[in-house]
Amino acid sequence: MNVERVEVLPDLWRLGMKSSSEYVDHVNAYLLKTVEGWTLIDTGFPATSEDLVRALNDVTENHGVSEVILTHVHYDHTGGVKQVVQAFGSTVSLHSNEMKLIELTRRALNGHSTYLRAVGIEGEIYDTVRSFFARSLQLFPDSPRTFEDGEVIEGRTGRWKVVHTPGHTPGHICLYNEFNRVLISGDHLLPRETSNVPFYPIPGYAPFRSYLKSLLKVESLKPTLVLPAHGEHFSDVRSRVDYVFKHHEFRLREALESMNGWVDAVGIARGLTWSRGKFDELGPVDHWLAILEALSHAEFLVEVGLAERHRAGKIMYRALSQDVSRIEEELRKLRRSDPS
Ligand SMILES: [Zn+2]
Ligand SMILES: [Zn+2]
Repeated sequence: MNVERVEVLPDLWRLGMKSSSEYVDHVNAYLLKTVEGWTLIDTGFPATSEDLVRALNDVTENHGVSEVILTHVHYDHTGGVKQVVQAFGSTVSLHSNEMKLIELTRRALNGHSTYLRAVGIEGEIYDTVRSFFARSLQLFPDSPRTFEDGEVIEGRTGRWKVVHTPGHTPGHICLYNEFNRVLISGDHLLPRETSNVPFYPIPGYAPFRSYLKSLLKVESLKPTLVLPAHGEHFSDVRSRVDYVFKHHEFRLREALESMNGWVDAVGIARGLTWSRGKFDELGPVDHWLAILEALSHAEFLVEVGLAERHRAGKIMYRALSQDVSRIEEELRKLRRSDPS
């Protein structure tokens, strides 16, 4: 059995799945007993979907899963959704903003979007990204139910509230149990890695600012236990949030420094430090994620007046000032702002 099962709290199971994928080696789904049945939060990889269905039958003693909630629609969270629906007839629910990401992926794949080329995605990366999109699209649920921030799930051991945490994706959600102060954090807040904060061309959506505000939002809930989608559970949310702010401050500095003269997103990404190695040595999907992350940082620098953007075919950025103390100031302002 390739699904590790741990009852982390009464009526709440962690289902750990491993993968041979070069991008993500494991993921945690969570299974929650509710007053009406069982709710599954995320569904793991495509390759672990059959094992997941077997584990669900075991833990629920063949009662199955009445609802699947997706924290977001990345492939390591949606991989088993179709098999679970097929096995149990479950409803699939996600935040309404996640539909925008599904639509964007569909448009990019159908060639209705010039965005990929505009940000400098070409050659091998272009082909890889398109096939990655095609695979992702197959894993998206068919006509899911959508919900908004604040929706409540009546668990057997207290109510769980949907907390909208945009940033990693536009419709990312966490689930929070106010009674025992437990947060199921998806990819929003992780114990070891810092979440990717990708730029998506969705009108009115500012991913970088949204992401940091979403961090403050979960910090203000004061959870005492965080159950992430990757890695072990942890408690010290405050110091983790501090660390993530510092990480992005450093990344903004590097981005600004790389904008001496007009540069595209690939040029900015090349100037950033990546935990997996130098930009030019990353694989095509990591390249794509790095470019989107570079863009979200560049857009924030434009937003606060430290850089400018122009688009003539390609989207290019240039620093207006190298006053890096302004970065610290802007982040401090954000850190002090009302998270709601
Ligand atoms: Zn993700
Ligand atoms: Zn993930």
